[in-house]
Amino acid sequence: MTSKASKKTMKQINKSLILRNIYDCTGIDRASLAKLTSLSPATVTNLVGELIRDGLVKEKGVARSTGGRKPILLDVNPLRYLAVGMKIGVGYLDYTLFDLLGNAVTADRITVDGASPNEVVGRTIEVIEKWRGEHGDNILGIGVAVSGLVDTSRGVIRNSFLLGWKDVPMGEMLSQKCGTKTIVMNDADSFAFAQFLKGRAREYRSCVFITLGVGIGGALAVDGKLHTSSAGVGEFGHMAIARNGEICSCGSRGCLEAYISFDALANQVHQQTSSSELRKWFNQTKATETSEMEYLELALEKDPETVRVVFREMSINLGTAMKNLINIFAPEYLLVGGEALQFSKLFLNDAFDYARKNAFLGLADNVVFDVDELGEPAWSLGCAFRIIESELFSVKR
Ligand SMILES: [Zn+2]
Repeated sequence: MTSKASKKTMKQINKSLILRNIYDCTGIDRASLAKLTSLSPATVTNLVGELIRDGLVKEKGVARSTGGRKPILLDVNPLRYLAVGMKIGVGYLDYTLFDLLGNAVTADRITVDGASPNEVVGRTIEVIEKWRGEHGDNILGIGVAVSGLVDTSRGVIRNSFLLGWKDVPMGEMLSQKCGTKTIVMNDADSFAFAQFLKGRAREYRSCVFITLGVGIGGALAVDGKLHTSSAGVGEFGHMAIARNGEICSCGSRGCLEAYISFDALANQVHQQTSSSELRKWFNQTKATETSEMEYLELALEKDPETVRVVFREMSINLGTAMKNLINIFAPEYLLVGGEALQFSKLFLNDAFDYARKNAFLGLADNVVFDVDELGEPAWSLGCAFRIIESELFSVKR
């Protein structure tokens, strides 16, 4: 590297460092930045000036003076750049345009029926072009959240059982067609990363995340960092809770998902109900995430007793899985999220109780059990923030 190039790189590193600190502190003055980053006050003043000229940082009033001139506080300009978070679901594509602070600027949902990867790319180009027209060319990139095994380093969806996709280079396909940076993540990892940014999980260093819906996902944080060292870490839905049990979407037997996914619950209600209306509806409707939720809602109306029995059994299966996770990881914090929270009254407290009572010795005593409060946007916020990190806070060499 020439000394001119290394000087430029050093400047970029320092600029990213300052930006990161302004971002994390929300409202910090130049002198405090110099202390925090160990850069000279002159360097800080110079680089903050550049960040302000770039439109990335703005001055936002003054702090109380401790003698002398009142220090001017700096903050990130959240709308300078935007990032797209996209969730590829079963039967739908969810797009959210986030500002730099993770607030949703706008969102779009497209219903698709068994779309191929090429169709998904085609739909995505349309959304990105529309948003570029409406919001200008300041979109940093696209974060993609998808179920299954994902190799984030190569942007490849290795295997998504729920979508029926194998070895799809979605990162390359989207970045070529949309001309923008793309990061592909497992959806539960994206969900968990969002909890670290905007949820209560940021107060804890060891966390277990479980997501319940059409699939059962999971993620793990160790020492304050999301544990994603290899694709497939945290596939809690495929832990076995029964030997020679039900067949799972992954082809194995006895997985948790085969007992407590929407598909499994709808099937259990169908097998146990005597309501002819429910039986007819089930037989005539194609199974999608939305239709399975609608079926369970309808069943709750038409045959609440059967639904209660099914969810009671579900709470024990979920509680057993939580107990196993607590025994293995002894987390400080355990969060449950996902679309199934819509039915949480029917199972969640029972599942937490079961885990508390059955965990090894007192391992569950200090676990904080929590429920997601971020909702739907959490799925795509995590991967969108990975885009923001990679484009603004990391240094390209
Ligand atoms: Zn499985």
